[in-house]
Amino acid sequence: MSNIKIYISFDFEGLGGICQWDDVTKDNKDYKQKYAVSQLNALLEQLQDHEVVISDSHARGNNIPWEITNDYPNVKLISGGIRKFYMMTGIDESFDRMIFFGYHSGVGEMYSTMDHTYSSSSIHNIWINGKEMSETLINAAYGGIFDVPLAMVVGDDKLKRQLTPYFNKIYYIETKKSLGRYAAQFKPMKILLEEISATTKLMLSKDKEYFEVFRFDKPIEMIVEFSDTSKADMVESMPLIERIDGRKVKLVSDDYKTIFEGLLAITYICSTKS
Ligand SMILES: [Zn+2]
Repeated sequence: MSNIKIYISFDFEGLGGICQWDDVTKDNKDYKQKYAVSQLNALLEQLQDHEVVISDSHARGNNIPWEITNDYPNVKLISGGIRKFYMMTGIDESFDRMIFFGYHSGVGEMYSTMDHTYSSSSIHNIWINGKEMSETLINAAYGGIFDVPLAMVVGDDKLKRQLTPYFNKIYYIETKKSLGRYAAQFKPMKILLEEISATTKLMLSKDKEYFEVFRFDKPIEMIVEFSDTSKADMVESMPLIERIDGRKVKLVSDDYKTIFEGLLAITYICSTKS
């Protein structure tokens, strides 16, 4: 197998052993970094012949210990924030494929652990071209700008269901059955780690051309609905943004980079106190 270049965007809520904010909040005594590292190790063991960039994309981007690059010198780690392009920092046309690791379902999904889309406190809904969004779709389309396909996703059963209409070729590793926003049934850890290894091997056996590059049709229309009107009052001052009602704004462009960066700017604005 020849050397391939793989971009991994890491999130936390979709991993096995994780079902509430305490599990994924650094400085909390229940913070489950070791679960993230063991699942990541199962993946990285299979990627040792390849060039890997991991973007630590949960919260402040400081969840993955740098030591992991001592065990795997083929891995470069992007860490910290605030940073430009956040969950997708560093992706470009040199990559062959993307893996979204630990991803969770989009906001509003029933019985799905910590469902949200970019901001659990401020964003009530996001639609692009009339379809409800998830971070997976939003970020996959960003990779699409560079013709990089999404090859594999690691997340819960509900995200899998959300993605089914959009992807025929991806490898999906189901980490758990979500039972509520803060509840899940976990499979045995040993089984999950074996599934991560086995599925990663299969994914690597396919050429880049096998996978689908995800893009939105143009013009691209994004509508963001906020948790309250004060967020829309603030975001309305952004260039290109149109206020469409009390809690919603709209951004239309043929350039998906503008939509993607617009959404990040919206998220950063909403993280300030109003
Ligand atoms: Zn997260």
